[in-house]
Amino acid sequence: MTQPSDTRAKRAALIINPVKNTGADIRAIVSELCAAEGWEDVLYLETTVDDPGRGQAQEAVDAGVDVVIAAGGDGTVRCVAEVVAGTGAALGLIPLGTGNLLARNLDIAVDNPEQAAKAALFGTERNVDVVHVKVDRAQESHVFLVMAGLGFDASIMADTRDDLKDKVGWLAYVDAGIRNLGGKPARTRITLDGGETITRRLRSVMGGNCGKIMGGLEIFPGAKIDDGLLDIMTVAPHGRLGWFGVVGKLFARGKGKDPSLEYFQCKSAEIQLDEPQEIQLDGDPLGKGTHMALRVDPNSLRLRMPYGKKDPAVVTNPTP
Ligand SMILES: [Mg+2]
Repeated sequence: MTQPSDTRAKRAALIINPVKNTGADIRAIVSELCAAEGWEDVLYLETTVDDPGRGQAQEAVDAGVDVVIAAGGDGTVRCVAEVVAGTGAALGLIPLGTGNLLARNLDIAVDNPEQAAKAALFGTERNVDVVHVKVDRAQESHVFLVMAGLGFDASIMADTRDDLKDKVGWLAYVDAGIRNLGGKPARTRITLDGGETITRRLRSVMGGNCGKIMGGLEIFPGAKIDDGLLDIMTVAPHGRLGWFGVVGKLFARGKGKDPSLEYFQCKSAEIQLDEPQEIQLDGDPLGKGTHMALRVDPNSLRLRMPYGKKDPAVVTNPTP
């Protein structure tokens, strides 16, 4: 299928979250596909509670593999991407989680591990943006690929019951959402590209690298994963009933004058709160913080995706 440009056999690393229960033997699928193309033996690594992907990704990059495959949920993908971005190695995905948000945004199969494995090994490649995040001015920065949030959305992620996630999938987030509807807005200052500062009383601020969340809903209608821009969304419903306005504007793809939902675009943003709020990156709760600095790193991640699928820039484009 693929013709190597040099005589060296190619090699893939497979980083898998062993907790994710799938009917398929992912290791066997990837090994067989690689063997059939004359690739070297797969470098097989498992994530652990203490190291959810970064150490394994570093080992894979150090071994000089051609592609690093993250097989797991959004958390595994995020941790592996954090290390792989900027190294020149390609990242492939075998989605095994509940959300699989990045895979959905790139039209990577979420219910067919063999198809996803083929795209990861032999698919086309695109350079996409990642977003670096620093919480409370920490030295250490994190990366997200789909979205980050401060406030209501992150409270949902922190409050979602794992037992319910296993039983009803993404509906578990709805359960947590309803339980968290009644919170208070927080005074929030958002500085865009080191310039203009916007002050609002908000329930949630979100940063988006691409647009789609679960159920096919695009919460960032204008977001593209390779435009070098970070999309910011602010959520400020007036009381519980105000959520109807938020939901209405979301379904209207951000159109309309309802001020409960606003969008901005920038390359970097700083978000400052008076009171600590929950923070999430690609659905992973990070704990509470009062300050978040976000910065786009344009085209820094080589991502494998299926042939014949639309360009990511098109995938997230709003239909007129
Ligand atoms: Mg973008």
